Amino acid sequence: MNPGALIDRDGTINVDEGYVAKPDELEFKPGAVEAILSLNQRGFKVAVITNQGGVAYGYHTEADVERFHAEMSRQLASYGARVDRFYYCPHNIKGTIKPYNVECECRKPGDAMYRQAISDLDLDPALCIAVGDKPTDLIPAIALGVSSVLLVPSEHMDDPTPEEKQFQRAETLGSALDQLLT
Ligand SMILES: [Mg+2]
Ligand SMILES: [Zn+2]
Repeated sequence: MNPGALIDRDGTINVDEGYVAKPDELEFKPGAVEAILSLNQRGFKVAVITNQGGVAYGYHTEADVERFHAEMSRQLASYGARVDRFYYCPHNIKGTIKPYNVECECRKPGDAMYRQAISDLDLDPALCIAVGDKPTDLIPAIALGVSSVLLVPSEHMDDPTPEEKQFQRAETLGSALDQLLT
């Protein structure tokens, strides 16, 4: 079984401007590429796990999501880094587009995408880490026994909200890995 990194996408790897979908809207957060490369070099399988409810709202399509992931992979490859597999949930019960406006088990904090990644990539949850910028990214991971860190704005590091306080915290993906992998 493999060690794995189960990483949120928007706001964790790339800058989150809200329903980011076009390849030219991809902007890596500082240090994110280096952090992914370091996971690759340490032998971690890297899974991106992302809610893309914008599909259910009609803001973008599944094909857009896949094009965005292809662009992310292309840019990572130019640094010798890679995501082993992308998982996204296109659903949202409040959406308007069929068949996506349904209740599902994949939308985080559901754990279906995490369980699928663990199965597909033959991961040992005890050797896995998770990083995200929302508690809903971490709740399913922690329930599966995965060590997890929440990214918070720098001004929250010393003054976290009551919700943030429940989690181990870091400012960037790189510093989250420093905490999780030492
Ligand atoms: Mg996020
Ligand atoms: Zn879903």
